[in-house]
Amino acid sequence: MNFDQQRERLVENELRILGIRDESVLRAMRTVPREEFLSEEMQEFAYRNAPLPIGSGQTISQPLIVAHMAEALELEPRDRVLEIGAGSGYAAAVLSRIAKQVFTIERHRELADTASERLKRLGYANVQVRCGDGTRGWPEEAPFDAIVVAAGGPGIPKALLDQLCVGGRLVIPVGEVPDSQQLVRAIRRGDDEFEYEELGAVRFVPLIGEAGWEADLENQRPNVPRRTAKPAQNLPVQLREAAEPFSSIENADLRPLMERIGDARLVLIGEASHGTSEFYRIRAEITKALIQQKNFDFVAIEADWPDAYRIHDFVTHKERSEPHDWEAFSRFPTWMWRNQEVLDFIHWLRDFNLQHRRRGRGVGFYGLDLYSLFTSVDCVLNYLDRVDPQAASVARVRYGCLTPWEGDPATYGRATLTGRYRSCEGEVVRMLEDLSKRRVAASVHDGEDLFDAQLNARLVADAEQYYRIMYYGSDESWNHRDTHMFDTLRLLLGRYGGRAKAVVWEHNSHLGNAAATQFGKHGQHNVGQLCRQAFGADVYAIGQGTDHGTVAAASVWEGPMETKQVRPALTDSYERLMHLTELDAFFLPLTKARNTQLTSALAQRRLERAVGVIYRPETERLSHYFDASLPNQFDEWIWFDATTAVHPLTTEQLAAHEAPHPFAIIDE
Ligand code: SAH
Repeated sequence: MNFDQQRERLVENELRILGIRDESVLRAMRTVPREEFLSEEMQEFAYRNAPLPIGSGQTISQPLIVAHMAEALELEPRDRVLEIGAGSGYAAAVLSRIAKQVFTIERHRELADTASERLKRLGYANVQVRCGDGTRGWPEEAPFDAIVVAAGGPGIPKALLDQLCVGGRLVIPVGEVPDSQQLVRAIRRGDDEFEYEELGAVRFVPLIGEAGWEADLENQRPNVPRRTAKPAQNLPVQLREAAEPFSSIENADLRPLMERIGDARLVLIGEASHGTSEFYRIRAEITKALIQQKNFDFVAIEADWPDAYRIHDFVTHKERSEPHDWEAFSRFPTWMWRNQEVLDFIHWLRDFNLQHRRRGRGVGFYGLDLYSLFTSVDCVLNYLDRVDPQAASVARVRYGCLTPWEGDPATYGRATLTGRYRSCEGEVVRMLEDLSKRRVAASVHDGEDLFDAQLNARLVADAEQYYRIMYYGSDESWNHRDTHMFDTLRLLLGRYGGRAKAVVWEHNSHLGNAAATQFGKHGQHNVGQLCRQAFGADVYAIGQGTDHGTVAAASVWEGPMETKQVRPALTDSYERLMHLTELDAFFLPLTKARNTQLTSALAQRRLERAVGVIYRPETERLSHYFDASLPNQFDEWIWFDATTAVHPLTTEQLAAHEAPHPFAIIDE
C-alpha cells in the first residue's frame, strides 16, 4: 500500500471508528502527508496510530490525538489558531487545513527551524512558526479563536487564557505529574468568565517554560496552581437514596418498574456493551414480566432479520419443512446473540408460547438490523423458487448485480462512489417493488412467508444504500441504519395491529434519545429518538451501565472474541457517580423519579461509557466515552457495579442441539 492508501485507511478504519466525527477534521487528516513530517527512517511508520520520535527528545503526536484535539477546538474556517509545541509541524499543518491562519511556537530552535522550512516547502502558507516559550502566548497576534497546547503543563498558563477571544476555546493537557495529564478544554464565556471541562486522560511530553514545568524535570515543582472542573457535590448520597437496590437478577422485585412502565407500548432496553452477562439477564427477566403481565406481542433485537427470523420460527413452533441452510448468528460477532443468556431466554419463550397457544400466533422474535445483504438475497430467492420460479429467475438476474461484492459489500460502496462500478440501486428497488405488490400465494401458509420475503427485499434495498452512503460520512450511514431499524419496528407493530406492544433490545447508543447526547449535536438520530417522536409517552426507555469487571469483545473488527477487563469508570462519568453510591445493583427511575431535584442535577452533561463489539481499553476515553444528559436519554437506568462477560456457546453445547434448533451446527 502506498502512503495515500495507508492514510485513507488510517482515517476510515481507525479515526472514524475510534470516534472522530467532525468531517472537516477527517478531511484535513486525509490530506496532510504525515510521512513528510518524519525523518526518512521513521517514514514507514507514518500511518501507525502512534507517537513517533522527531529528535531533541520530542515526539510527533499520535494521529488520533491530533484529530481529537482539533475536534475539541470546534474550528470554523475563518478562525485564527495558536498552537504551543510545533514539534514537527504536522499538527499545525492539519489545523491549517481547517482554520484560516495558524501560529505555532516551539521552544527547541532546531525543531522550530525544521518545521518552518518544511511547512514552507510543502506549501502551508497560512502557518507561521516562531521559536520561544509558548506559555507566554503570542501577544502581538492575539486574541485567538482557538489555542491548542501540545505539551502537558501543571496548570493553564494565564497568558493563554488572556489571549483567547470571548467564545474562544483552549485545549491543554494538565496534570500534577509531568508525564500524565487530563485533557482540559476552557471556553471563554466573558471577560472574566471561563468554563472548564475535562476530556479524558492523556499522556504528553512536558510543557517547559515560565508557566509550565521547570526545564530541570528532576525538580517537579509546578510553577502555577492546577485548575480543573469542579467535582460533583453530594450526588452519590442522593443517588443512594433514590436507587432501588436488588441483590439477585433472577429474584429482583420488578413490581415498581412494571408500575412505572404502565401502559407503554414500546419498552426499549439498552445495554452498555454487547458482551455483558448481567445486561442480558436482567433484560430477559424484565421482558418475561412484560410478556406475562402486560401481554407484550414480540421482542425485536439489534440483529439481522433472517437470523432472528430463524429464532422466531423456533419460538413460535413453525419450523419450516425446508430447513434453512444457515445457522442463526454464526457470523461475527457471534457472541453478541449466540450465547447462553439468549439461549435460555429463547427456550423460555418457546415454552411460554407452547403453554399459551390460545394467544394466537405466539410472542414473536425479530431482528431489526441490515447487515445481512447476501443472506437476505438468498431468502428472497428461496421464497420465489418455492412460489414463482419464473419470478425467481428474474430476481437472480437483478440481484446478480451485487454478486461480485459478496465477500466484502463495503468495497461495493466505494466502487460505485468513485464511478468505477455501476450502482445496483435500480435493481434492488425494483425487486422490493415487485415483492411489495405480490399477493399471498395459495401455496403459502398464512402470508408469513411472503412477509418474511418482503422484509428481506426491503433489507437488501436499505443495505445496498447503506454501503453506498457509508463513504459520505458516518452520520448519514448511522442515520440510515437506525431509520431502517425503526421502520422495521413500525412495520412489525402494524402487522400485529391495534395497540401492539414490543420490547426492543439494542445497544444504549441506539435506544437512548440521541438528541440528549453529543451525537445529536452532530445531526445523528437513533431508534430511541425516532420512537419518542412517533410514539411519545407510549415509550419507556431503559439504559444500563457498569463500573468494572469483564466483557466479551474483540480488539478489531472480525477479530476473535476475548474476555477483557473493563476499566473502572472515568472520574467525570455517570458511571463513576453510580459507583460512588457503593451499591452493587439497582434500578434508578429518572423521568418518574420522586426526587426531581436529583433528576435535574443528573441532567447536567457528563461522560457515559459505550462498549460495542470492540473494546479498546488503551484508548478508552476516545473510543468508548461520549457526552450525554442521562435523564434526557432514558426514563430509567439499571446499574451493576461489577459485571461479567457473556457465555458464548461452545461447540459441544451447539452439537447438543440438533437441527432445526436455530443455534445448531448444520452440516454443510
Ligand atoms: N504538535 C507536534 C507535537 C508536539 S510535541 C507535532 O505535530 O509534531 C510537544 C512539543 O512542545 C515539543 O516539540 C516540545 O519541544 C514543545 N514544547 C514544550 N514546551 C514548550 C513551550 N513552553 N513552548 C513551546 N514549545 C514547547
